[in-house]
Amino acid sequence: MELDEALQDAYQYGCQFTDQGVVADYIPELAKEDPHRVGAAAIGPDDRLFTMGDAEYKFSAQSIAKIMIYLGVLENYDLSYVRKFIGVTPSSKPFNSILELELSHHKVPVNPFINAGAIVATSLLMEKYRSNTFEMIRKRAREIIGNDHLDYSHSLYLSESNSAFANRALTYMLLNDGIIQSDVNVEDLLSAYFRACSLMVNSIDLARLGAVLAHEGKGPDGKQLIRKEHAATIRTVMATCGTYDYAGDFALLVGIPAKSGVGGGFVASTKNGYGFGVYCPGLDSHGNSYVGVRILQKLSQNLNLSIY
Ligand code: GLU
Repeated sequence: MELDEALQDAYQYGCQFTDQGVVADYIPELAKEDPHRVGAAAIGPDDRLFTMGDAEYKFSAQSIAKIMIYLGVLENYDLSYVRKFIGVTPSSKPFNSILELELSHHKVPVNPFINAGAIVATSLLMEKYRSNTFEMIRKRAREIIGNDHLDYSHSLYLSESNSAFANRALTYMLLNDGIIQSDVNVEDLLSAYFRACSLMVNSIDLARLGAVLAHEGKGPDGKQLIRKEHAATIRTVMATCGTYDYAGDFALLVGIPAKSGVGGGFVASTKNGYGFGVYCPGLDSHGNSYVGVRILQKLSQNLNLSIY
């Protein structure tokens, strides 16, 4: 099937499920989103872009920003050092689980895509970039996505910051267990993390991110935007940990490296040069866009993209 036809079919299929998901409300600003809004964008190996629905609608990246945060860490530290503080094991509990952290080996977050792992990753960046940590994450996001206007939403940031009791609890546990340096200022650290989660993107931006990862880190003009080995590491962790404790089901259903966010976004990156960005804010019980999973499932089937 051609990419435009595959995307249209997947979009129509996914739109049948807009009643099934539940919009996140633990961050009050997210609860305002319309569960019937669907956007999808696909970039093929030849770099042609196709879109369906509200592909230009902006929403907060949320957990998808963890890709940028982890990339920053990979670009500043050896992976062997990073692994002392953040694992690469799929999580078995929800993305903000205190129990998962409490039970993990040496109290090290199991992976960089659950909240505890991303908070540790942000703390590693703060050791290098101090008060410029968020600005560094935003700069890299702009370069990789190729959108100089990409920025965070202050209202979303405040909404998350004012309601982030679970993330504060995780951060204090990480401090208590020495996984985060004791001299870090918790509010500065969380401010950088929440701003990154509040970066506003649309489905096209996410398809571009997916395409860069799929092209071994190269942008549309062939420029190396991400080192090849870092793109491979990120795709691998997306495949194993990108959909939280749903990763096994997602591997069976879709079989493409992908990362979801509780804002309703999804980025996916295939082995053979496709990048997908999908949005619909209704979530499944694991925090993944319900419609997003179905659109990606259909795209994977239509184009025979499962890596397994
Ligand atoms: N900002 C969100 C949080 O920390 C990200 C979670 C997600 O998208 O899974 O709760």
